[in-house]
Amino acid sequence: MKLILLGPPGAGKGTQAKRLQERYGIVQISTGDMLRAEVAAGSDIGREAKAVMEAGKLVSDDILVRMLASRVDRPDCAKGFILDGFPRTVPQAEALDGMLASRNLQLDAVVELKVDDAALTDRIAGRYTCAACGAGYHDSFQLPRTQGVCDSCGGTRFTRRADDNRETVGARLAAYHEQTAPILPHYAKQERLYAIDGMADIDDVTVALVALLDSLPR
Ligand code: ADP
Ligand code: ADP
Ligand code: ZN
Repeated sequence: MKLILLGPPGAGKGTQAKRLQERYGIVQISTGDMLRAEVAAGSDIGREAKAVMEAGKLVSDDILVRMLASRVDRPDCAKGFILDGFPRTVPQAEALDGMLASRNLQLDAVVELKVDDAALTDRIAGRYTCAACGAGYHDSFQLPRTQGVCDSCGGTRFTRRADDNRETVGARLAAYHEQTAPILPHYAKQERLYAIDGMADIDDVTVALVALLDSLPR
């Protein structure tokens, strides 16, 4: 199965992608995570991306398209993948079309998680992640079962993203509306676009997603 999860920052793409990857045995490809790894490693790409990401703007299409092309060719993608955070511009969507066509691959679905802007600021400001395994949490909406201990791995160190602050959210939402939302009609034309209510509770969103994906022709 090959999917794109679309939606504004904080919509729940990463949270749901992690659940879907376990359920369907496919890999989550998060371009945000890949870029943060480049920044942490201090690579050329990381040095170029760091300030752009901290300002809440989009990193260049050129870098992203090259990064994604090499990622989908790795063997763990053979059973399928969930794109989380890519494509984010019309040129990226067009490049992806070409990438898939040249590999004889087809998307099964592009799913938009719909969440009101007003809810996103609180989701982003309260987001944190287990430093050891990357499991996602939220100060109010997704607490670990035992305070300070990761449910998945027992880790006790957590991190917050440099760009997850109330000041940067505005720029990230503007980038979404101006540069990413215009790819929705691109996929509507291909008759691959579905929408899910992302305002519901995390478990309810998963139920709706699974129902949708299980109903697709395979
Ligand atoms: P979120 O989960 O909040 O939507 P991501 O982790 O996907 O954020 O992305 C974090 C940042 O990384 C973005 O604000 C942007 O600067 C950069 N980024 C990630 N994916 C892309 C992409 N496909 N194109 C351009 N920039 C990207
Ligand atoms: P994205 O990858 O789209 O940027 P995340 O999956 O990282 O979004 O979710 C952003 C934050 O909101 C996380 O802290 C997560 O725990 C929380 N969250 C995700 N989905 C929901 C939901 N349906 N309701 C409330 N909070 C949610
Ligand atoms: Zn963990």
